[in-house]
Amino acid sequence: MAAPVNLRDDASSDAFRAEVRAWLEDHLTGDFAGARGLGGTGREHEAFDVRVAWSRELAAGGWTCLGWPVEHGGRGLSLAQQVVFHEEYARADAPARVGHIGEELLGPTLIAFGTPEQRRRYLPPIVAATELWCQGYSEPDAGSDLANVGTRAELDGDEWVVTGQKVWTSNARVADLAFVLCRTEPGSRRHRGLSYLLVPMRQPGVEVRPITQLTGTSEFNEVFFTQARAAASDVVGGAGNGWAVAMATLGFERGVSTLAQQLGFRRELERVVERARTSGALDDPLVRDRVVRAWVGLEVMRLHALRTLGAPADSLDSLDSLDSLGSARSASVAKLLWARWHRDLGELALEVEPDGGLCAAGPPYDLTDAQRLFLFSRADTIYGGSDEVQRTILAERVLGLPREPRP
Ligand SMILES: Cc1cc2nc3c(=O)[nH]c(=O)nc-3n(C[C@H](O)[C@H](O)[C@H](O)COP(=O)(O)OP(=O)(O)OC[C@H]3O[C@@H](n4cnc5c(N)ncnc54)[C@H](O)[C@@H]3O)c2cc1C
Repeated sequence: MAAPVNLRDDASSDAFRAEVRAWLEDHLTGDFAGARGLGGTGREHEAFDVRVAWSRELAAGGWTCLGWPVEHGGRGLSLAQQVVFHEEYARADAPARVGHIGEELLGPTLIAFGTPEQRRRYLPPIVAATELWCQGYSEPDAGSDLANVGTRAELDGDEWVVTGQKVWTSNARVADLAFVLCRTEPGSRRHRGLSYLLVPMRQPGVEVRPITQLTGTSEFNEVFFTQARAAASDVVGGAGNGWAVAMATLGFERGVSTLAQQLGFRRELERVVERARTSGALDDPLVRDRVVRAWVGLEVMRLHALRTLGAPADSLDSLDSLDSLGSARSASVAKLLWARWHRDLGELALEVEPDGGLCAAGPPYDLTDAQRLFLFSRADTIYGGSDEVQRTILAERVLGLPREPRP
């Protein structure tokens, strides 16, 4: 287990905080200022082009890939400094960035398992926010049961030929490339014979079909590969080792971005409380009780994250440590905590509206913020591993309870 993160020492570096704040103030102007607060979870469609430009502006200022080692193009900031950055970013209400899948999932995976050639080719455009990525894991018959992946890839000379279907692929429409879990050993089953391929999205063999979500927008998509091509050298961690690499990527999902996510949650909670104040909902003692519970829940998540956050960096060298009991335990606990907390907040957000949040504000009858939060947060207990799956992991691997039946 990693040592607890001490935020007091260098986070109190006023100079660093002042530098971040000043940079954001100087650069969040013009179109960027107009995109403040836009593009968060469930609102990825908002001001997309401006947010791409903003991500490149951040990159030019050296404010992307903050925790990556300097030799890989990152800024090599301490965890405490990254937290300060995210706090200031949230305080400035800066637009949501567009490159988080590359920055937080693929980049750390390539740093840990990529070849020097793969790192040279793919890391710089992630840092510069000039190439966007999507994650091609889920399939119609492989969601919670991810080992059932059926998309296959065969070597043809110096290329992989990829055929199959992915689903629920976030940002596939805007992504330049995908990391795709494929079956590369014909006849193999379950976790064996899988490979982790880097596949260009903009080619004739790739078709993206948006899926309309509850919110009316399409953050995720179906992706069809029909003899799509990927370079033979673009298999990460070696052919047949895809399961271990794919699991490592999932481990990176809970890096320092967890704290950024929580800062977003805090702002959402503040807005809900403010709305409850103006609508009179706070007169209801049950609402006050739920507000306090929400605040406590957020505090518990924050402390859990700070206690466990060192783990991903420590685990960069070894697949085994990523698969350790402690890692599974803290990741599953964190996912269960935030998924249920955020879904509850979505419900509270509607309840504090005078009309129960059922009416649109007026033309063009777009969703209100509360409605969007309520609808999108229904997905929280599903993606990144559903609540049921997390509880099974804890039951079997941590508590040692009898195994659940497998498909
Ligand atoms: C907003 C959103 C974005 C996503 N983005 C991506 C992405 O970018 N890339 C990607 O690859 N995927 C993505 N996903 C897919 C996500 O990972 C899957 O939805 C998730 O893994 C669940 O798989 P499934 O949808 O096939 O549901 P299923 O696995 O069919 O599960 C259906 C229900 O059955 C339950 N269940 C399943 N198996 C068991 C079991 N053994 N024991 C008990 N209960 C069980 C589940 O908990 C769930 O409630 C996204 C999903 C959402 C909602």
